[in-house]
Amino acid sequence: MSGKMVVISGFSGAGKGTVIKRLREKYEGYVLSVSMTTRKPRDYETNGVEYHFVSNEAFEELIGQDGFMEHAGYADHYYGTPKAFVVENMRAGRDVLLEIEVQGAMQIRDKYPGTPMIFISPPDAEELERRLTGRGSEEEETANKRLRQADREVELLPDYDYLLINDDVDACADSLNRIIRMPEEAVSDGGSQKASEGGEIVTDAGKKKAFAEAFRMGLRGILQRRGIL
Ligand code: 5GP
Repeated sequence: MSGKMVVISGFSGAGKGTVIKRLREKYEGYVLSVSMTTRKPRDYETNGVEYHFVSNEAFEELIGQDGFMEHAGYADHYYGTPKAFVVENMRAGRDVLLEIEVQGAMQIRDKYPGTPMIFISPPDAEELERRLTGRGSEEEETANKRLRQADREVELLPDYDYLLINDDVDACADSLNRIIRMPEEAVSDGGSQKASEGGEIVTDAGKKKAFAEAFRMGLRGILQRRGIL
């Protein structure tokens, strides 16, 4: 039986990587798509593990060969999902997770309808700020950049099928697994479920919109306080 492709987005630095890692530790049969990017590797990154780090020329060559499921420009660099890895793993029966930003996610939604689209978010903007600034003041500039980016991304949050509220890593990993493997059971009370064994899953359009709106207001206040709005 062939596996599924699943899109997972979320604010940068807010913990979605940790949730995905926990999901893969707890449950069998998931693989994370290794993206291609033109940005430079960070100290702790290895070529072929977190990303395939390539030149602009190599990236554009693969675009020319229609070798990407999706690709996008983000923070002055290209990011894209190579097709071959996704196709091979789905054929082998594995569920392939695409951890990608919102522009690429919308391309997948348009090109491959029916792909589950999941947005993982902290409970509110204040918690996002706490997670981004909890690591020391030399990262203030990075935090400011990410908060500004979040302000743009939150607009597309209601377009996702599932909003998953990340208040506890384990619970969130369990909810993610349910959304992907038992979607008919994942939401049972009219669009929002606070299951005792899982993070909150929201699918109701009005509730997603209200969450995004409240988050946006919170972000605005934070951006103003930090003098970047
Ligand atoms: P970072 O440079 O911090 O690793 O990633 C920046 C953003 O690019 C993150 O939001 C990440 O999810 C996103 N990203 C990573 N790989 C891809 C990809 O293949 N396609 C798209 N569209 N976004 C990606």
